[in-house]
Amino acid sequence: MDYKEIGLRVGLEIHQQLATRSKLFCPCPSELGEEEHDEFERRLRPTRSETGEIDVAALFEWRKGRSYLYEAPVRHSCLVEADEEPPHEMNREAIVIGAAMAMALGSHIVDEIHVMRKIVIDGSNTTGFQRTAIVALGGSIRVGDKEIPIETIAVEEDAARKIREEGLRIRYRLDRLGIPLIEISTGPAIESPEEAMRVALAIGQMLRLTGKVRRGLGTIRQDLNVSIRGGAITEIKGVQRLDLIPKVIEYEALRQLRLLEIRDELSRRGVKPEDLQVEAVDVTETFGNTKSKILKRVIGRGGVVLAVRLPGFHGLLGRELMPGRRLGTEIADYVRFWSGVGGIFHSDELPKYGITQEELDKVYEAVGAVKGRDAVVIVAEERGKAEKAVRAVLERAAKALEGVPAETRGALEDGTTRFLRPRPGSARMYPETDTPPILVDDEILEMARRIKPEPPEVKMRRLTEEYGLPKELAKEVLRDIRLDLIERLIKTYSDRVPPKTIASIFVVTLRGLRGEVDTERITDWHLEEVVRLLAEGRIAKEAVEEILKYVAEHPGEPPEKAAEKLGLTSLTREEAERIIEGIIAENIDKVRERGMKAMGLIMGRAMAVLRGRIDGKIVAEIVRRKLQEALSRQEQQ
Ligand SMILES: [Zn+2]
Repeated sequence: MDYKEIGLRVGLEIHQQLATRSKLFCPCPSELGEEEHDEFERRLRPTRSETGEIDVAALFEWRKGRSYLYEAPVRHSCLVEADEEPPHEMNREAIVIGAAMAMALGSHIVDEIHVMRKIVIDGSNTTGFQRTAIVALGGSIRVGDKEIPIETIAVEEDAARKIREEGLRIRYRLDRLGIPLIEISTGPAIESPEEAMRVALAIGQMLRLTGKVRRGLGTIRQDLNVSIRGGAITEIKGVQRLDLIPKVIEYEALRQLRLLEIRDELSRRGVKPEDLQVEAVDVTETFGNTKSKILKRVIGRGGVVLAVRLPGFHGLLGRELMPGRRLGTEIADYVRFWSGVGGIFHSDELPKYGITQEELDKVYEAVGAVKGRDAVVIVAEERGKAEKAVRAVLERAAKALEGVPAETRGALEDGTTRFLRPRPGSARMYPETDTPPILVDDEILEMARRIKPEPPEVKMRRLTEEYGLPKELAKEVLRDIRLDLIERLIKTYSDRVPPKTIASIFVVTLRGLRGEVDTERITDWHLEEVVRLLAEGRIAKEAVEEILKYVAEHPGEPPEKAAEKLGLTSLTREEAERIIEGIIAENIDKVRERGMKAMGLIMGRAMAVLRGRIDGKIVAEIVRRKLQEALSRQEQQ
């Protein structure tokens, strides 16, 4: 696809959890907690904004009649998360990190921080809103030879963690609620899917360079705003994996392009908005003896089958917009959101699902549709819901005449997306009155200056010149998610463990283990312990891989215990010497025969026993010396 030609524009919103000691508005630890919990249930109602409007999306979410069950872990939530106590003053540490990023990105830091409420009523926040505060405006980040503008840097609270849906009840856990996030939004200046990934990587790297962000799956999330010329801004939420970004954008560009083609096709066919002023027809009787299990079940419990004609839509509902998603799928998602009806049937996919050609013919007749020109959508449900569903079908069809609707979509694992809700209006934000504004004073600015991330090229120089890492290794370290940990370990242990050895544990050993074991289980603490054992001479660097593999396979086992169990604790030089002397004695005939040429043989035997327990260089040195001794004894005899 030629992205320049279709006028692709992408803006990123990066949300990154901050490694602060406590949450944004209370003293609870800012991390997830699996301990025992209390439970309580709530319902949420939409309220009017200051301008008197009600957010449409919020209203409809409420009408679904949902309730929310909250798990309140005893050590990772308090009355603030439960919304039983007002928020405390905003965490200054989070503001400092925001200000540090602002300095690195050349953003203008605001004088006073005002907390705002953003309406969210999917239950992910007990208050019905998310607290968010702008820390800085403007700035840019250089990616390749392009300056990508930064629009805002904000600090906000993370939402509660969704555990599962139990019918109309959704279960959330409150540990994640209130963990500070930094939100960095770029302007819509990104022009290709690959560029979007490079920008996300650059921002992510700079965030890690502060050394103040959390790591691991779910600690960083990307939202994408994507549009093409003539399309509309689609907000795509929750892309967790960086490598998925290009694919999500590619698919979204394709979807918008196809929707524009459908719009043009409808226009060629002369379809007008007023053509969609049609009524649904009750066709329940047509399906009196149907073989369709779904229809039979709905009719059996007193529901109805409604059909509606979509004039001029023949063949368009089955058009693929992105892999596995057609215009028909989009309409079905829309129906689900606005009416709660689980699915629809449309003529482009029929006869199928037990619905016969004969039944379909009758439906066409009943709604006055013309074959080969019109499409028909069938909905089966109790009457009230079915009528709502039909209205949603017609509304979405009307939007097809305009092209691309502005909406919020959710990213799926394979890079495709699905409709979540309409784009929220401006009625969504209003001031938080429970917390006072915070003056950005000299103390905040001074602390920010101290953790302001160094530009990558400066850090690169430090890694190669100060720590003596080879350039290729340094590049990998700079890209590594644990950059801050690597640096800290090098600073602490470089007098006893070469920096290159420390860096290699992360860049070579750990990555090499990825295919073999679940490396997510190897924690910072494990890695730090391994380096400490190396520094104390308790293990050899050859033992590191085996030990890490073991701790990944045996969660809860400290590296020190792993080393003992694997027999990988270091030997003293004396112990190694004794073992090597034994090997020479066993092979004394060959040693006499070959002289120093027996070095390879003895070395091989020795390493088979000693590998991972003492440095190979020391083994070689002992073998050489012991061989010389053995040979000189022979000469003397
Ligand atoms: Zn709390």
